[in-house]
Amino acid sequence: MSAANSGIGMTSQRTRMRMVERLRGQGIRDELILAAMGEVPRHIFVDEALASRAYEDIALPLGFGQTISSPYTVARMLELLRSGSVLDKVLEIGTGCGYQATVLSRLAREVYSVERLAPLLTKARRHLRDARAHNVRVRNADGNLGMPEQAPFDGIVVAAAATHVPQALKDQLAVGGKLVIPLTNHGKQSLHIIEKTAQGYVDRKVEDARFVPLLPGLG
Ligand code: SAH
Repeated sequence: MSAANSGIGMTSQRTRMRMVERLRGQGIRDELILAAMGEVPRHIFVDEALASRAYEDIALPLGFGQTISSPYTVARMLELLRSGSVLDKVLEIGTGCGYQATVLSRLAREVYSVERLAPLLTKARRHLRDARAHNVRVRNADGNLGMPEQAPFDGIVVAAAATHVPQALKDQLAVGGKLVIPLTNHGKQSLHIIEKTAQGYVDRKVEDARFVPLLPGLG
């Protein structure tokens, strides 16, 4: 971590606490998520030139045409994923810079994360190490396929918008497990939560969303 990123000024604990209060105001209620986001230094996940904006409620560019989701989006996705329950093993599709995976590492015992762009994953690995997220395993692969050898998962969170729900991800959910995924329909995106029950899948549309697209294959 460089001196400029060492946690002073705009990147201080106080700035992070202001972000947490804003998230409460936006309706985030899960105290475990609020605590995790209050601790994870979001500024180390973005380029130094953007570090001072890391705690604003905006998506920021990561390079390669990708963005780190806004704090509200991360909090809301993870709140849906947890829905108040204990998470053991979870899968994230779209590691990006590794921020959401790091927050997840504090909510679940084991975190797996898949990213299709190898250079982004190199950065993410460094960030995960700097943030001491030791229970996160990442892989350069097409997230549409999930990670069959680690399945089943209690939760799967997709950080990019799909046109349909990949069947592999549904298959890899445990019974009682939840898939949180933004879906594009007629040019409009919305966040969905899909629960696997003993009787089948229950799909609920939650709210409008704005994500980069889930792309096929490796980058
Ligand atoms: N969770 C990330 C935000 C990621 S943005 C963070 O905290 O920074 C979405 C990411 O999904 C991008 O990095 C993009 O490259 C990746 N992505 C898109 N399609 C994918 C696919 N099929 N498999 C894996 N990753 C994918």
